[in-house]
Amino acid sequence: MKKLIAFDLDGTLAPSKSTLPGRMAELMNQLLKSHQVCIISGGKYELFQRQVLSQLSKNASLLTNLHLMPTSGTRYYSYDANASDWKLNYAEDFTAEDKQQIITALQEGLDESGYAVDKTYGETIEDRDSQITLSILGQEIVAELGEEGVRIKEAWDPDGSRKLKIRAIIAPKIPNFEVRAAGATSIDVTKPGVDKAYGMNKLMAATGLSMDEILFMGDKIMPGGNDYAVEQMGIESIPVRSWEDTSYAIEAIVKTA
Ligand SMILES: [Mg+2]
Repeated sequence: MKKLIAFDLDGTLAPSKSTLPGRMAELMNQLLKSHQVCIISGGKYELFQRQVLSQLSKNASLLTNLHLMPTSGTRYYSYDANASDWKLNYAEDFTAEDKQQIITALQEGLDESGYAVDKTYGETIEDRDSQITLSILGQEIVAELGEEGVRIKEAWDPDGSRKLKIRAIIAPKIPNFEVRAAGATSIDVTKPGVDKAYGMNKLMAATGLSMDEILFMGDKIMPGGNDYAVEQMGIESIPVRSWEDTSYAIEAIVKTA
């Protein structure tokens, strides 16, 4: 019996950088009544607020069942019902020196790959303190262009091969860090050993749950993908292609709960 359902965010619960679709928000509110839920994503906490929390029930008894792991599990937030706010449990931040080395490698890697684009939207390299992310088309493409931005992102690297090529150029430049293909158009760098599996281990310690009580769903459960580590550590995992796939799986869980 699964007690906690964990999800990737972009491409799994919502289109890239977009808010939870109404249907998904409704299903998540239902799921939180019967299960603990964790969302673990490369995105930063502010994106969790914008994409997820803004769409969910404000009911404290539901929110206490929700665990948020932004920036690939390098940060962990849980809901403090007494304070009516989210509490940061830990953060694995880089030093200033680490950051400089990583930013240089990302910039060089993108240049050498030949995949740099002329028109970008917002920052292309974003320092999220515990994770540095290269967004090839820019962080703000969806905020600026809306659905058109989502379409451009999804069309840029539909089979993931460009991201894997860029990753293969960057990773040897910074062997002391983890480099992963992440969202539709991004590459994430974290401290070594800090990935979604690390986050899941922290989550199990915090909740007292065992591996077989957890089910995970993600759209990048493949070698080089940022969801792969969770399946590799032995957590039962369902690969999805889109939030619609995920919605059918949640519907089945909710109906049998
Ligand atoms: Mg994803």
